Amino acid sequence: MGHTIEAAKTGRASCRSCKQTIDKGTLRLGEEVANAFSPGEMTFQWHHLPCAAEKRPAALKQALETTDVEVTDKEELLKTIETAGKNAKPTSFPYAEHAPTGRASCASCSEKIDKGDLRIAVETEVDTGSFARKGAAYLHPACAPEHTEQDGIDLFEKVKANTLNLEDSDWEVLEEEMCG
Ligand SMILES: [Zn+2]
Ligand SMILES: [Zn+2]
Repeated sequence: MGHTIEAAKTGRASCRSCKQTIDKGTLRLGEEVANAFSPGEMTFQWHHLPCAAEKRPAALKQALETTDVEVTDKEELLKTIETAGKNAKPTSFPYAEHAPTGRASCASCSEKIDKGDLRIAVETEVDTGSFARKGAAYLHPACAPEHTEQDGIDLFEKVKANTLNLEDSDWEVLEEEMCG
């Protein structure tokens, strides 16, 4: 599974980005998301490819890298993805970012994560007292694999697929801390 690209089998679905119908036969991105009606199951939300490049750059990039479908305007889409990705806040966990403030502590070691430091955001249940909701927890890159009980390389690959707005030098640091 994962995000997918396919020619629309019917003309019934509409694009989540622009709300317009996706014509039968048009290539579309299926963004894999959790099914709100059926916990634990995944479902697809559909987007026109040019819309996805603007609104879902990380998902489309991942799908373009793995698809067997021939996408004729791939170069154009990748350019849009690159531009859009620089401004986009990641929407899927786990992702990496520079801490915008110094207020968060690492969910694993409880040490503060300094402003500007790279951190890994993962999804977690936040207990508000009366009900549990989903929220983000932050981790030092070096603490992340153990805390999430994942292999560092696997986790690094997932983070990389969800994050577009970091520099190559940031990825070198992350790779060393997570996989080293
Ligand atoms: Zn659209
Ligand atoms: Zn830590």
